[in-house]
Amino acid sequence: MRIYLDHNATTPMRPEVLEAMRPYLEARFGNANSIHSWGREAKRALEEAREVIASALGARDKESIVFVSSGTEADNLALKGAAWAARGRGRHIVTSAVEHHAVINTCRSLEEQGFEVTHLPVDGEGLLHPDTVMRSLRTDTSAISLMHANNETGVIFPIAEVGHLARQRGIVFHADAVQTFGRLPVGVESLGVDLLSLSGHKIYGPKGIGALYVRPGTKMVPCMHGGQQERGRRAGTENIAAAVGLARAAELCVESMQLEAERVRSLRDRLERGILSRIEGARRNGHRERRLANTSNISFQGADEESLILALDLEGVAVAAGAACTSGSLEPSHVLEAMGRRPEIDGGALRFSLGAGTTEAEIERVLDLLPTVVERIRAAAGSSHPEPALTYR
Ligand code: PLP
Repeated sequence: MRIYLDHNATTPMRPEVLEAMRPYLEARFGNANSIHSWGREAKRALEEAREVIASALGARDKESIVFVSSGTEADNLALKGAAWAARGRGRHIVTSAVEHHAVINTCRSLEEQGFEVTHLPVDGEGLLHPDTVMRSLRTDTSAISLMHANNETGVIFPIAEVGHLARQRGIVFHADAVQTFGRLPVGVESLGVDLLSLSGHKIYGPKGIGALYVRPGTKMVPCMHGGQQERGRRAGTENIAAAVGLARAAELCVESMQLEAERVRSLRDRLERGILSRIEGARRNGHRERRLANTSNISFQGADEESLILALDLEGVAVAAGAACTSGSLEPSHVLEAMGRRPEIDGGALRFSLGAGTTEAEIERVLDLLPTVVERIRAAAGSSHPEPALTYR
């Protein structure tokens, strides 16, 4: 039995998505910029996909959707595009300390180019308070960028409240909705965002495609230079098959969103309750309620995360330590660090992220084998009995 509990890293593509894409990988291979019938056919498919994404986001104008290659590119375009366009107003950007590296490292690059970035703190449960955002705003603040939900803990940020604040002050507001689009209702009007990033491979769609919502009137400079594709906002021949796949995946996720969220929440809670009651020195990271229904992040005192992941992998179970792009390197998670966790005391943290294929039998199997795996690793590390004073529940 192979058990995949790493859906925040990526998801398998749905067969319906592949079906929708197939014609555009085969006979309908045209370039959407050609004026002959092959080109027009491709263009039509691209515009239909744009319409679907706009409607899933509650956006009024389909031209507000820019197709890009990934969530990372959407974040880059949002931040660099908006920061450079608004530099006349100021060079101060507000973000949080727990963003994905797609935002953190883009901010770093902007800092090297003379922008100033404030990284807002979160509390011990990973929550960001709107007051904290309000206090950070200055007359020269030109952009705010915050994630809708955290990829490591699933904790949800108060995007609508910040959207309201940003609008009052006329500051461009970007939300990274890569982990929420298709899982939670994401409406650009109700959230009050000017820019919003999403990605195909997190929602059972293809890799290599993402989209950025750009509110009409938002000033942007392009990051990619070349042809006039995507109305001059993102040059490069469009990936029609992937855009069609993204749209189909979005439709399917939106259709099943509520039932699926309830289903995975009940499985996730069962997994979490089971782990916390069966394994001493295990502690949940992240607010219990205000988080994605599919995500559970748990620290295991006296066990390091790499050993845990590898031991579980040998048992056929895939889980992650923090974000996928940093696993493999032994750097501590900047997210857990910002929440005040100390790996040397709290132990290694595992992220369990459930998805459409997760079953009750899989959860039971993980609950059966995890206590032994943790015990074995603790014994090998010489800490089979965590200090009572440091035992969390
Ligand atoms: N933002 C968040 C919150 C993410 O979780 C990820 C991927 O894990 C990204 C951005 C980057 O998306 P992509 O993998 O499509 O580049």
